[in-house]
Amino acid sequence: MSLILPPDFGQTPKQKLVLPEGFKSLLVQVCCAPCCGAVLECFKYHNINPTLFFYNPNIHPRAEYEKRRDELIELSKLLGFAYVIPEYETKSWFEAVKGLEHEPERGKRCTVCFTRRLTVTAQYAKKHGFSHFTTTLATSRWKDKKQVDAAGFAAQEATGVPYWSEDWRKGGLVTRRYQLVKEFNFYNQLYCGCVYSQQNNTHVAHVTDTAIACTNCKTNIAPSDIGA
Ligand code: SF4
Repeated sequence: MSLILPPDFGQTPKQKLVLPEGFKSLLVQVCCAPCCGAVLECFKYHNINPTLFFYNPNIHPRAEYEKRRDELIELSKLLGFAYVIPEYETKSWFEAVKGLEHEPERGKRCTVCFTRRLTVTAQYAKKHGFSHFTTTLATSRWKDKKQVDAAGFAAQEATGVPYWSEDWRKGGLVTRRYQLVKEFNFYNQLYCGCVYSQQNNTHVAHVTDTAIACTNCKTNIAPSDIGA
């Protein structure tokens, strides 16, 4: 993997950006390079220098997690942004979504998934003195911005750190996102991230202390694969 900065990088179409009240510093929950390329370009253009927080224990299997993580690290370095990679602690994520395995995308499992990821982000922001946090989770047209925002505001409520609910699709960022995916030649992801989105909701995880297995297809998910 070797990313090269496209020659036209830096000219965001989102020329107007109003900072939230009291803005001093920003922690951004990032899920992958394709979702955040156009947003990071926008930050560069507006002289915002965020720290990127790659907290995504939902991503399965470990090899997929590492691919997305490593590309995000490479992009962060290329753009000169600080980044934080918290522990890949998937067991508690599986426990949190237990019973929601058959939910469709945009359903209740995704609400739990977003809320968990954004609450951990907000907790880190609080501990390390960031004035605001935001996320690139709603940049994809497959995601429900209202659902992501509800998770962001729940995390704000839990921690007291303000959630910046800017719409990172507006101002031409969706078109720019797809241009940059092509220009950077980012890794082509085929599913949202979790095992359920990977297998079209056919997996049902049975979580024990030592193993996670699918009770439908009997696939064993080795604890070492999921960081448990
Ligand atoms: S489909 Fe995506 S957002 Fe929903 S639970 Fe799975 S990884 Fe999380």
